[in-house]
Amino acid sequence: MNNQTTTLERSVICDRTQTRTEACMCGRCGRGSPDAKLAANKRDVLALLGLIAGCVDCHPKLVADKPTWSLAGDVAHLREQLVAIATGIALTPDGSEQAARRGIESALGTDDEDVAEALINAMCTPIAKPTEDTMSTETTQPDHTEIADELDQIRDEIIKQCERARTMLRRAAPRLTYERARMYWLAHILAAAGAEEYRNPYDTTICNTIEELRDGEDGDEG
Ligand SMILES: [Zn+2]
Repeated sequence: MNNQTTTLERSVICDRTQTRTEACMCGRCGRGSPDAKLAANKRDVLALLGLIAGCVDCHPKLVADKPTWSLAGDVAHLREQLVAIATGIALTPDGSEQAARRGIESALGTDDEDVAEALINAMCTPIAKPTEDTMSTETTQPDHTEIADELDQIRDEIIKQCERARTMLRRAAPRLTYERARMYWLAHILAAAGAEEYRNPYDTTICNTIEELRDGEDGDEG
């Protein structure tokens, strides 16, 4: 990669979040009035939704007149991913995922002309968890240092197991299979776990979470 391209990319894409700076909400890009941020994010959301809609509507495989099970499976997979996104939006921090999912599914069951409004309602109505659970989260204040320590152990375990898988594949798997595993999923997992050799200063890894917990940083307050 040449240096000029890198500089050009960095001026547009935020180093911290890998989000374009116009839409990025990090402390450095997110200053000033909310108007421009709202406009940029809204525009990107609509562009992405348009892309997905276009893919489904115009994909050569999907306009072919002979439906197959594999085609039905592909679209069902896409539906599942989109429902998961809608469920994520409908979910409040103390909400139940199942209730949010059921809300989205029953909204999808509405007639064509009302389905958009039903979905918006389902996504914007916070779904609270049963009182029992809400009470238990309020009364027991978890110790963040303890969670950080436990997370640290989980991190060690992830790195250890990845290294085990890598050694195993290097010894026994065909070379290309090993190389692909090493370069893609192993690299992703190890990078997310903040493993030394894969460390990227622009990534948010499990190490950042551990650090935030130890520093007592509270993302909800500021
Ligand atoms: Zn940023």
